[in-house]
Amino acid sequence: MKSLPARLAILFLIFSIDSDLVLSTEYASEIFYKIRTENNSEANSIGSYSRGCLAGAEYLPNHSYHYEALKPSRNRFWGHPNLINYIKKISKEIFEVHGNGLLLGDLSMPRGGPMPYGHKSHQTGLDVDIYFEKKPNLIMNRYELETFKPRSVLSPNQRQINEELWSDYHYDLLKIISRDEMVTRVFVNPLIKKKLCIKAEEIDDSDWLKKIRPWAGHYKHFHVRLNCPTDSKLCVNQANVDNSSGCGSELDFWMQKDKLFESNSTKIRKWMLLSDLPESCKKISME
Ligand SMILES: [Zn+2]
Repeated sequence: MKSLPARLAILFLIFSIDSDLVLSTEYASEIFYKIRTENNSEANSIGSYSRGCLAGAEYLPNHSYHYEALKPSRNRFWGHPNLINYIKKISKEIFEVHGNGLLLGDLSMPRGGPMPYGHKSHQTGLDVDIYFEKKPNLIMNRYELETFKPRSVLSPNQRQINEELWSDYHYDLLKIISRDEMVTRVFVNPLIKKKLCIKAEEIDDSDWLKKIRPWAGHYKHFHVRLNCPTDSKLCVNQANVDNSSGCGSELDFWMQKDKLFESNSTKIRKWMLLSDLPESCKKISME
């Protein structure tokens, strides 16, 4: 018969092995999804946009004179302070130039990390989705924020731009959005990039187009990505975009019919484990 302390030690061992096993097989998206608040530390974006997490996140208020953040129940309005400041600044600028506010989609979860549905990236608090549709000229109530359905700028058959909805505003919007030095890329549907390329060529204004990247989907919203903050030492940038406008062969590739819409790659990424993320993300998920 073992002594009581020895039996307790064995019990403890079994329990700790067991909880480790639970931790190691629980998907990272499930772990991060359950955390409802930010951790209290210096802001720090860790890892890459599609494999990372966020410490010291800041919350973007749902309402402002210059924007409304849709679907607040998703709790995805957290970002690195650089992103929060960028959104406030840019929405104010659009309002001053065009007289309307912006409609926002998801940023990141309170500690970043992979999401159980909806996005492959948005993990480090440096990505935000912004709708093409203007903010209605009123303060939206909670029900409206949850249920408002922004329209696509593509035609119903999704093979061309809906010319009744598209206007020079959208050209200008994307130009202002991408101008900030912090912005590294803006993702739009290939048909939209094509539309921008045509106008830019007409008026000899192609310089700014290099940051606008074609990507499947992205016809109700576009996706803005910021560079790693300089003091986030563990943050991994994407390679710089090259200097061409991207209106040539790269766009032709994306213009193929099967490249215009989302693939199922988000489903694959959902199955990442905590051990697939940078080491510090484990700590951030447990604080
Ligand atoms: Zn996005």
